[in-house]
Amino acid sequence: RIPAGARRQSRRAFYVKAFLSKGCARRRVSERNRRRRLLARRLKLSPQATDENRVCHIIPLTGHIRTPAPHPALRTTFPRGGRLIMEGVITMDKQNRKAIIAGNWKMNKTATEAKALISELIPAVKDAGCEVVICVPFTDLVTAVEMTKGTNIHVGAENVHFEKSGAFTGEISADMLTDLGVEYVVIGHSERRQYFAETNETVNKRTKAALAGGLKPIICVGESLDQREQGVTEELVRMQVKIALNGVTADELKNVVIAYEPIWAIGTGKTATADQAEEVCAAIRKVVGELYGEDAAKGLTVQYGGSMNPKNAEELLGKPDVDGGLIGGASLKADQFAVIVDAATKG
Ligand code: PEP
Repeated sequence: RIPAGARRQSRRAFYVKAFLSKGCARRRVSERNRRRRLLARRLKLSPQATDENRVCHIIPLTGHIRTPAPHPALRTTFPRGGRLIMEGVITMDKQNRKAIIAGNWKMNKTATEAKALISELIPAVKDAGCEVVICVPFTDLVTAVEMTKGTNIHVGAENVHFEKSGAFTGEISADMLTDLGVEYVVIGHSERRQYFAETNETVNKRTKAALAGGLKPIICVGESLDQREQGVTEELVRMQVKIALNGVTADELKNVVIAYEPIWAIGTGKTATADQAEEVCAAIRKVVGELYGEDAAKGLTVQYGGSMNPKNAEELLGKPDVDGGLIGGASLKADQFAVIVDAATKG
């Protein structure tokens, strides 16, 4: 039975984009045929089918009509992030988003050590089906950019100052980073919030400066253990996201990545459960949807970070709203990082 809400939606015509192995075919179907096809496809639905991309992504005709809200009884999640939202209809939003595995080296690796690690990483992740980023200390950036030229590894910095230039001794501007060939930058990591007086407001200033300078910010948000226990995680993360994105245009948002990093899970060996990660990543997507609209939210890459490792990566990355990971400790070991990259490729 198609739920009442979904039936209202089903009166509208849809574009059907078929992701078949031989490429994409886009066809407009009549309402009558559409119902028949949806039913037929429903019979073929299986986790294996989703793995082979042999599923359909139904896109509302105008691009403005909201995708039918999932009926609780019909909400089913598939391994690669597809979600059965009504009879015969799967959204494969996750398939359309960029999965990004980013290493955060923190204050580790001299330039000489970086050279050795990158030499191991290049062959280890060369077949990645996701975007691979290494965010390295400022002193390793030149080495990293030079060594990764012509490979699938992208380079990020771990911070950026919000002014363009001037009397800010010890700081690094967005232009300085882009001039080197740096693409990404981590902003608002909890260690910077905790030890270097980073606030939501400075995160916002850095985000805007990064975007204006052509960098892709990876904005970190997340709650402390106390905040989680007080039950304010969602409100807190919503506020962090809203302030970080204040003044960021919809066009700029396309270059933004948000990383949900529960502080209690960073470097502690304690990982959020996959359900906890999913819950907050979905909340982040929701608030971005409220700010920029559903399409923008569907396109946003939301990462999880916090003791992700080869053992837990697959489960975390299999969640529909977890599009990748920000990896600290495990990014310092090429073999461990490569396993996480593989998990994201599957996820
Ligand atoms: C991080 O530094 O962003 C992080 C998630 O660290 P770890 O994976 O070591 O917890």
